[in-house]
Amino acid sequence: MKAIVWTGRNSVEVQNVPDPEMLNARDAIVRVTSTAICGSDLHLVDGYIPTVKKGDILGHEFMGEVVEVGPGVRNLRPGDRVVVPFTISCGACFACEAELYSLCENSNPNAGMAEKLMGHSPAGIFGYSHMLGGFPGGQAEYVRVPFADVGPIKIEDDLPDEKVLFLSDIFPTGFMGAEMCDIKPGQTIAIWGAGPVGQLAAASAFLLGADRVIVIDRFPYRLKRAQRTGAEVLDYEEVNVLDALRDMTGGRGPDACIDAVGMEAHHPTPAMYAYDRTKQAARLETERPYALREAIMACRNGGVVSVIGVYGGLIDKFPMGTVMNRSLTIRAGQCHVQRYMRPLLDRIRSGEIDPSFVISHRMPLNEAPHGFELFKNKMDDCNKVVLTT
Ligand SMILES: [Zn+2]
Ligand SMILES: [Zn+2]
Repeated sequence: MKAIVWTGRNSVEVQNVPDPEMLNARDAIVRVTSTAICGSDLHLVDGYIPTVKKGDILGHEFMGEVVEVGPGVRNLRPGDRVVVPFTISCGACFACEAELYSLCENSNPNAGMAEKLMGHSPAGIFGYSHMLGGFPGGQAEYVRVPFADVGPIKIEDDLPDEKVLFLSDIFPTGFMGAEMCDIKPGQTIAIWGAGPVGQLAAASAFLLGADRVIVIDRFPYRLKRAQRTGAEVLDYEEVNVLDALRDMTGGRGPDACIDAVGMEAHHPTPAMYAYDRTKQAARLETERPYALREAIMACRNGGVVSVIGVYGGLIDKFPMGTVMNRSLTIRAGQCHVQRYMRPLLDRIRSGEIDPSFVISHRMPLNEAPHGFELFKNKMDDCNKVVLTT
């Protein structure tokens, strides 16, 4: 089959690889019909997430048709159309019982590697490094889906792929980012990062009752898309974000702040950017955490900072004094996707939201290297790439 594989730093290729095979009774094989390139794929491609190997198949946002199921999968049959969550979860461990699916205790065969870096291991993730399981990803014609009786959600009506594909990651991730803010009527939520996740977090914040949403970025085409959700926007290359947010909130600051940027943030001050960029390149810190630092500084006293941007390891100059003295709550996590798929599918079905508004580019799977190029370099106003087989 054809698959998109990592072949070295900043290099992905279309390659012919062996078809996946069933390994366990609870596996399914899915023929992918649509898959997407995610911002978090970029952290893998450029080598900032460790333990990616040459030949690894990328991709964790995909859907398609079930072609084979193991004897342990009773809820799916060949021919079913499914969206597959990026988190691989057994459905029966301590974490899964608590609906903390991205922390499944049974799905990461390389848990020991993750424990060394993080203390304990999170769940396995499709196409997301060996530390998180080394599972072949979904930017391919076929994928083996472990615990297929728990993860995939059947799409039984004629909703097109584009409307439901993002149930695999970015819609639930944006929604969880907003949900962690415990939004009350009348509140103002600020979001760093106007990429697809930030845009869907903005839409979700409104769904959950936010009065105002303010999205911060520096690319006009992304801010414009964020505005479509009803959000106000700030270009951090044009304004001082902390001053602007203070002005917009009567001096108090946003009630909650969402970091939808993560480990490769950009900073408008060259000296500051150079400081973290150099340390990151020398692997003295793994992150460039400007968005997170600013979100913490901006948040009102007693507010919530919700982190859905991806981080890989260690942060320098973390403003703990601010967190402690101003009673901030920091909430974070890879999305517990399975918890959100059904309720969010219902919201799509009822017409409350159509997450396909984030799509800017559609192309066949074998043009994925071009898609990565456009998306990484923010060329051609590239916001979100969907690949079809
Ligand atoms: Zn993703
Ligand atoms: Zn589990």
